[in-house]
Amino acid sequence: MSDPFKALVVDEVEGKPENQWRELTLDDLPAGDVVVDVAYSTLNYKDGLALNGNRGKVMRSFPMVPGIDLAGTVESSDAAGFKAGDRVAITGWGLSETEWGGYTQEARVKAGHLVKIPGAISLQQAMAIGTAGFTSMMCVMALEHMDITPDAGEILVTGAAGGVGSVAVAILARLGYTVAAVSGRPETRDYLSGLGAASFIDRAEFEGEAKPLARPRWPAAVDTVGGTILANLIPQIEQWGAVAVCGNAAGFGLETTVLPLILRGVSLMGINSVFVPQEKRAEIWRRLASDLPLELLDGMTEVVPFEEVLALSGQILKGQVRGRTVIDVNA
Ligand code: NDP
Repeated sequence: MSDPFKALVVDEVEGKPENQWRELTLDDLPAGDVVVDVAYSTLNYKDGLALNGNRGKVMRSFPMVPGIDLAGTVESSDAAGFKAGDRVAITGWGLSETEWGGYTQEARVKAGHLVKIPGAISLQQAMAIGTAGFTSMMCVMALEHMDITPDAGEILVTGAAGGVGSVAVAILARLGYTVAAVSGRPETRDYLSGLGAASFIDRAEFEGEAKPLARPRWPAAVDTVGGTILANLIPQIEQWGAVAVCGNAAGFGLETTVLPLILRGVSLMGINSVFVPQEKRAEIWRRLASDLPLELLDGMTEVVPFEEVLALSGQILKGQVRGRTVIDVNA
């Protein structure tokens, strides 16, 4: 039997999910072809949902090791393409949904889910990126796909002080875009300007009942919150503009009309980071390595010991976590 290691396991007790710290061995892990010595995981909004009563039914089977991301070093591999010592990460691919995730010191995973972390990015930085940062890059690439260029004008980022928002602000600013950060937390103004935001907008300006069309003010937006904020934002997008829509922190409903789409040619670009094909993932990681300033990533990241994940998971759902949180599973 292998040495025991620590994992967070969610099991159903009398029909309700219960978070339990457990000691496991490799024999307890599900089938897979690569064993990873996990160094770090992260905290994303979805992890908050999973650890707080499995809201949104993130986890679909029990027992489940939660944590939608992991990064570490290959310990052993039966798969061509991976060998002991390789630095690897997984974001998405159903981790914490149908596949055991990253809140563990050891994981056995499918080689087809792993990416090799680009050389310039440390294991800790890979998880500072995590699903949130990966999604931010996807949003920026979606806007590029719609020919939104840095000279277009002010690009809105909603939920700007959150994980996806912070990374999106940093990438867009580095690429030369002018970023208007929309946040409900005025105290994050200096933080956001440090990431490169040119202006700060109180999210209250995007609350209330939305008009079908409003004065066109913004060429494009990265929206991480959905709900009323997105409904107010779409009618303000300029002719041929685009919105990369990735989140629902403000709600999953969307009350809007087709008018901005059919009268201004506005595009809504849906972003799903979970089941992105591997070739596309490699491209997204390459872009992260080149377009996300690592010093800004480090500055927006807090690294916390493993057991703090439970308390923080409640805070992220209340919009109280700023930037990115890395979970050191060995601390
Ligand atoms: P965070 O909690 O870090 O960020 C969310 C931010 O949204 C908060 O920091 C806050 O920003 C804002 N916010 C929170 N609550 C509300 C509210 N009630 N009304 C308006 N704004 C609010 O989460 P993440 O960055 O990890 O994720 C953001 C969203 O993106 C989540 O909905 C998540 O599920 C989704 N997501 C989707 C992915 C995909 O593949 N489509 C992948 C990753 C994330 P501020 O204080 O600045 O206003």
